[in-house]
Amino acid sequence: MARLRRALRPLGHHWWQRPGESFTLAYATSLSHRLPLLYLIVVFDVVLLSLRFAGSAPLLHVLLGPTLGIYAVARGCYWLPARVARRPIEDQRLDIERMRRLGAISALLFVAWALSLYPYGDVSQRAMIHYLLAVTMFSGILGLAHSPQTALGIAAVFTIPSTLYFLAVGHPNVVYVSLVQLVVTAIVLMVTHGHHRDFVRLELSRQKLVRRERRAARLASAHYRQATVDSLTGGMNRRAILACLQAEMESAAKSRPWLALADLDGFKHVNDTYGHSAGDHVLRSVSDRIGEARGVIAHGRLGGDEFAILFDGALDARAVGAAARRLSAAIREPIGHNNATLRLCASIGLHRVRGESVSGSLERADAALYKAKTRGDGAIVLFGPDDEITLQHRIAITRQFNDCALDERLMLLYQPIHDLRDNRVIGVEAFARWSPDGVNWQAPGTFMAIAEATGRTGELTRLVLARALEEFRPWENGLDLSINLSPRDVHRDGVVEAITSIVHKAGASPSSIILEVTERALMDDPKRATIQLQAFRDQGFRIALDDFGAGWSSLSQLRDLPLDMIKLDRALAAALSDDPGARAVAGMIVALAWQLGIGCTIEGIESAAQVEAARSLGINLMQGYHFGRPEPAGIALIGLDRAVA
Ligand code: C2E
Ligand code: CA
Ligand code: CA
Repeated sequence: MARLRRALRPLGHHWWQRPGESFTLAYATSLSHRLPLLYLIVVFDVVLLSLRFAGSAPLLHVLLGPTLGIYAVARGCYWLPARVARRPIEDQRLDIERMRRLGAISALLFVAWALSLYPYGDVSQRAMIHYLLAVTMFSGILGLAHSPQTALGIAAVFTIPSTLYFLAVGHPNVVYVSLVQLVVTAIVLMVTHGHHRDFVRLELSRQKLVRRERRAARLASAHYRQATVDSLTGGMNRRAILACLQAEMESAAKSRPWLALADLDGFKHVNDTYGHSAGDHVLRSVSDRIGEARGVIAHGRLGGDEFAILFDGALDARAVGAAARRLSAAIREPIGHNNATLRLCASIGLHRVRGESVSGSLERADAALYKAKTRGDGAIVLFGPDDEITLQHRIAITRQFNDCALDERLMLLYQPIHDLRDNRVIGVEAFARWSPDGVNWQAPGTFMAIAEATGRTGELTRLVLARALEEFRPWENGLDLSINLSPRDVHRDGVVEAITSIVHKAGASPSSIILEVTERALMDDPKRATIQLQAFRDQGFRIALDDFGAGWSSLSQLRDLPLDMIKLDRALAAALSDDPGARAVAGMIVALAWQLGIGCTIEGIESAAQVEAARSLGINLMQGYHFGRPEPAGIALIGLDRAVA
């Protein structure tokens, strides 16, 4: 075989079939489309020759032909495309291998039979043998481009025995016949070789294309996974669960699903106390528990410790409430992690998805979740008709706030700050009021969250400062002006420059301005907040920590922050006169502030008793309805003149 390979190399290297599964499949398919036709030609030849020699040659001799024909029919049927396609690939490979031998042997039998009839024929019958042998051979060689070795075998089997036979019987034209046969066979073989080469190239490029397509499909599926799977829990991510919600809403099903938003209470505590791996473990466990809960058709993590859950739309309000309670109980079950037992609960907001958009549904479930959060202890709240009215009102106000020229819809109220030591006003704090229509004025409780949501807090702060400087003119009356910063102002880039520039433009000095920040503003990123506050101080501003003593005030942070003033929260002021605990807390804060050289103001003072209680703790700076309510500029300034006088 190796020798034959070497001998054929100068004539091209596509005489051998390619190995491999893909090629086996391609060869078998191509051959199955050609071999039955080739066998049909053989059957046709055999029938013609038998008919032509019936009567001339012995009957038994002639009948050998139809026997060969029956064999050819059987082989032709064996290679029918549908039957080949059903065979396992290994059988196909064996068939292709066997074909080289079987093809040559079958051809040899046919040639031998045809030549054996030669002596019985007259000139025209012999010519027919020549003709049929040539036609069969050439069609065999040309038809076997997908098995070039079989084609070679057929060429050899047809040419060599017939040439030898014609030599032996002394055929008058043997030289010419053999020469023609040799040349034409060689040419036809080269054509077949070319066909096989083209076939191989085509198949190789097809295989390459398939590989490329597979790789692209693998990549696409990896991208899809990346884009839709939450890498932490292995469940759906925000995008996927929202797409799922969208699909549910668009589905033909009559009952719309329930959308629940679940937010873990105490997750931050787990993360801070036990570390992030515990936090991750909790998120995975909660995700698993949601997935196992009854009535849940899909769920995914929206981000952080918030999950979106779709409950079956076939459930009614009572059933979904029960399902949510079961889920809540499952989440409450202790979660073990590294010998620690972690306990959390989830607040759940539920909403029956109706005709709204995905964001509309989310907004409603979120409103219910917000309510559940304020109730605490893992409450479950169903978004109801009242909530819809509140939501519509909020949407309307948000739109009005978003669309208004803030400058035209803003008013400031000023409240005096008293120094009890010499009973005089030392400054004012400015409070913003916003009006959707220029008639009704809203307190910050209504619009500050909207200002944050619409990204207009920076603009609001700048307008309030500019307006307060213009109306109050601290440089003329020698009083301090206190301005409230929103949490975002503390972190926003460029805010120090913007505020300093407004103050300078107004002709005021930063030293007359106190910027009030809340603890909430510092909690998210204390490091950055500290840097920013120090930058304000470097410009000459003073910084006050607002609402101190409300909620989770931390005394230790007072040491680390660049502060000039602490403002004790009005809840503390309200409790001072009759709550010894509140008095003790306030006393501690005052003592610490004094040690650190930080001033102390108390706000929300409403009665003489509170004034006395605060004074007994050593607080001299006070603010509250007892001294004066927040008033518009005109009234506040007249009041001040009197107070100062
Ligand atoms: P805050 O800075 O703690 O302001 C004190 C709030 O208590 C003000 O409510 C004030 O009107 C009210 N108040 C003053 N004295 C008393 C009193 O004796 N008793 C009671 N019960 N309340 C008193 P307001 O104006 O509704 O402001 C609420 C909060 O909105 C403020 O709390 C402040 O954090 C924020 N805010 C107000 N104006 C602005 C502003 O221009 N920008 C920013 N970012 N926030 C502002
Ligand atoms: Ca304040
Ligand atoms: Ca305050």
